[in-house]
Amino acid sequence: MKKPFENEERSAFRETIRNFIDTEIRPFAHDWDEAGVVPRSIYEKLGELGAFGLGIDEKYGGLGFDDPFMRVIFSEEMARCGYGGVSAATCVRSITLEPLQRLAAPEIRDRVLKDIVMGKKDSSLAITEPGGGSDVARLKTTAKRDGNHFVLNGSKTFITGGMDSDYFVVGARTGGPGLTGISLFFVDKDAPGFSRTPLGKKMGWWASNQATLYFDDCRVPATNLMGQEDYGFLAIVNNFNNERLGMAAQCVGMMKAALEDSIAWAQERETFGKPLIKHQVIRHKIANMSAKIDMIESYIATICWNIEQGETPVAELSKLKFSSTKALEYVASEAMQILGGAGYLRGCRIECIYREVKVMAIGGGSEEVMRDLAVNQMGL
Ligand SMILES: Cc1cc2nc3c(=O)[nH]c(=O)nc-3n(C[C@H](O)[C@H](O)[C@H](O)COP(=O)(O)OP(=O)(O)OC[C@H]3O[C@@H](n4cnc5c(N)ncnc54)[C@H](O)[C@@H]3O)c2cc1C
Repeated sequence: MKKPFENEERSAFRETIRNFIDTEIRPFAHDWDEAGVVPRSIYEKLGELGAFGLGIDEKYGGLGFDDPFMRVIFSEEMARCGYGGVSAATCVRSITLEPLQRLAAPEIRDRVLKDIVMGKKDSSLAITEPGGGSDVARLKTTAKRDGNHFVLNGSKTFITGGMDSDYFVVGARTGGPGLTGISLFFVDKDAPGFSRTPLGKKMGWWASNQATLYFDDCRVPATNLMGQEDYGFLAIVNNFNNERLGMAAQCVGMMKAALEDSIAWAQERETFGKPLIKHQVIRHKIANMSAKIDMIESYIATICWNIEQGETPVAELSKLKFSSTKALEYVASEAMQILGGAGYLRGCRIECIYREVKVMAIGGGSEEVMRDLAVNQMGL
């Protein structure tokens, strides 16, 4: 079916990214996942292609324009490799770029942004704490002013890329309890009082690391405050919107990969004297999987169009986030079923996609929290 929002630039962007991923990422993704690391050269090459430059000024190595459809294309194509940890390790920088460009002091922007955009340095967003991630308004890490500095105390956990990142955007409490009272800070990995330890083995996202960060009287210059003191909550939730759109697009990429492999297998494998694809039950699974992908893709396109018009459709982004992870859960499970035992083997793309389902349903706003937000946004 023709895509109403496709244009020459978007098609060319997709082709460039897809060619790169097919030749430079997909053949090696399994090995990187097993090894738990993606080579830095990949980030740098993607940086050269402009993959991290959407919405970023040219003086910081960006493309000088934004396009939600292209953001979606990048996330979707990355996820088609099937290894969510490779996507997570690569794309994690993207969620710090917008707040850094918009809110960091000019000296910080000039010093760090270009290196992050070009894939030479890494950055992470640190919001979740050991005491909880869903209820951001209750975060406990504190930042107290001391002359020309802020002193941070507390800890963050599950921070993607946290063991490698040079720079962090950190949420901390500068004021009283609740939404007002939270601020964002830029923290350098070398800041005094900052340390980190890796999280243990995980269900998925093997190629990316997650860290617990510790702030023990961690002193940062007062100019590291990003945006207005006590009003960081809005910046945090605004930032979630891009992250959620990207995660939904990743779900689409993984679902397409799972469907592609399911169809190929169903055409090749014979049971009870005929190819699997000739059994009606399997045909219906393929139809259901394909329909779910189409629906999520169309929903994403409508949301992108609204974003392009200057809207921030928060309710729709929330509904998209949980609908896409539910669709992924279904598609990954059906794909695994179609492959039978073969799908259960390590090295099979579907085996990996299946174990990436839960992180998508929990991270970046869990399904439960997204449903609550959607209903709140509906004014109920
Ligand atoms: C692999 C991975 C990478 C991550 N990367 C990052 C990162 O880079 N930066 C970062 O800041 N965070 C990161 N996170 C954290 C992630 O955002 C949180 O895990 C998520 O927000 C949920 O928080 P929690 O795990 O503390 O669960 P909790 O908030 O403790 O919630 C537990 C469960 O209860 C449900 N729940 C909570 N409140 C309600 C309610 N009111 N009604 C019904 N159900 C509810 C939740 O949906 C969840 O299922 C990452 C997590 C993972 C697993």
